[in-house]
Amino acid sequence: TTVEETLLSAIRTIPDYPKPGILFRDITTLLGNARAFRRAVDELVHPYAGTKIDKIAGIEARGFILGGAIAHQLSAGFIPIRKKGKLPHDTVRVAYSLEYGVDEMEMHRDAVQPGEKVILVDDLIATGGTAGGACRLLTQMGADIVAACFVIDLPDLGGRAKLEALGVEVRTLIAYE
Ligand code: IMP
Repeated sequence: TTVEETLLSAIRTIPDYPKPGILFRDITTLLGNARAFRRAVDELVHPYAGTKIDKIAGIEARGFILGGAIAHQLSAGFIPIRKKGKLPHDTVRVAYSLEYGVDEMEMHRDAVQPGEKVILVDDLIATGGTAGGACRLLTQMGADIVAACFVIDLPDLGGRAKLEALGVEVRTLIAYE
C-alpha cells in the first residue's frame, strides 16, 4: 500500500465538528495506529535525513505529538509554540488570524538562537493563519526555517500557497479538496 492509502485509511473524518458544516479531519486514529504513525513521521522527515536540523518547532497541541517524534528521528531539539499564557519564562508573542477573529501564540525567547535551522510541524494546514504566525515568531528570533511540515493539506483554503509566498518550503503528505 502507498503512504497516501495508509494515511487516508487511518484518518477519521467527523462531520459537523466543531460546528455544523465543518468536516473535521481527526488524526487521533492515525496516532493510535502504530504503522500509520510511523509512516507519517518517516515520510515527513525523509527529505531532511542527513541535513543538520537544530530544532523542531511544534504547534500546540497535535504539533507536539508529531514534532516530538520527528525531533527524535532527526536528533533535533524541540520548541513548543503555545497559546498565550501557557509558557513560564520570557516569551515572544504574535497575533494570528483564525477563521473568526484573532488569537495569540507564544514561544520562549531563548528557545531558538539566530541562524539555527528549524522545521515547523503541525497536523494540518488550512488557511495558514496558525503556521504563518509561528513562522513570524521563529523569523523574529532569527531562526532559519528549513521547511514547514504537515500531514494534511486543505489546499482550497490557501495556506500552503501563503507560506510558499513567504519563501517557506512546505511539505504535506495528503490533501483533501
Ligand atoms: P489554519 O490556521 O487555518 O491553517 O488552521 C490550522 C490549524 O487549525 C492547525 O493548528 C490545525 O490543527 C487546526 N485545524 C483546522 N482544521 C482542522 C481539522 O479539520 N482537523 C484538525 N485540525 C484542524
